[in-house]
Amino acid sequence: MRKYIVAGNWKMNLSFDDAEELIESLIDLKKGDELEGLLMIVFPSFPYLELATDLTDEVDVYIGSQNVSNKEKGAYTGEVSASMLNSMDVAYCIVGHSERRKYFKETPEQIREKIDLLLEQAIKPIFCCGELVDERNENLHFLVVKAQIEQSLFHLNTEEIKNVVMAYEPVWAIGTGLTATPEQAEEMHAYIRKLISDKYGESIADEMSILYGGSCNANNARNLFAQPNIDGGLIGGASLNADDFYRIYKSF
Ligand code: PEP
Repeated sequence: MRKYIVAGNWKMNLSFDDAEELIESLIDLKKGDELEGLLMIVFPSFPYLELATDLTDEVDVYIGSQNVSNKEKGAYTGEVSASMLNSMDVAYCIVGHSERRKYFKETPEQIREKIDLLLEQAIKPIFCCGELVDERNENLHFLVVKAQIEQSLFHLNTEEIKNVVMAYEPVWAIGTGLTATPEQAEEMHAYIRKLISDKYGESIADEMSILYGGSCNANNARNLFAQPNIDGGLIGGASLNADDFYRIYKSF
């Protein structure tokens, strides 16, 4: 069955105490509210992962990492490997986020390596793709997203692709307050599902969760999530406030 997901990418925000308070508030809000087939995932920074997995040990809130190394292990100062994440019960990891592509010059090849290492460790990658504003204005958005998916995902086999979650994140909508309209987002999500279906078959495409990300908030989430091919959201700014994030979660 296709899973619906509301995921909070905290980025490089919050002190340790703030992170603890935010997770505790979410656990409190969500208590007794286990919705079948609808997952809540939060992505704190590396130093808070252990705190987060400990606090959510007994509850239905999943923890993911914002990043992972493309190296397996060894002399790579400052890097965090997929096997380290696995040893801390981290279940998901964001890969291909536009901020990493832009500021850290991550290449499709590195993203592919990260995905492979995560899958070997049974951690589900949340693969982000999306076009720049100029690419949309030039009507290149479908081509850009297709290339990103082909370059970093299409080497996977059928069993592997089943463990990938997709996130369509138009770069012009991230952190800008400019959300894609439900129609724009739905059009791209349907296109992504068709790409997956053509490559891996209809049943795999039908099972795949495709999230929308880009200035999604408590006011616009309901209309976005009502679209047939939008299976949830990857939320940045609005995930830093427990009430807002919980309202988004309840928008299904
Ligand atoms: C993101 O960074 O993945 C994101 C969607 O950010 P925001 O919600 O702040 O646009």
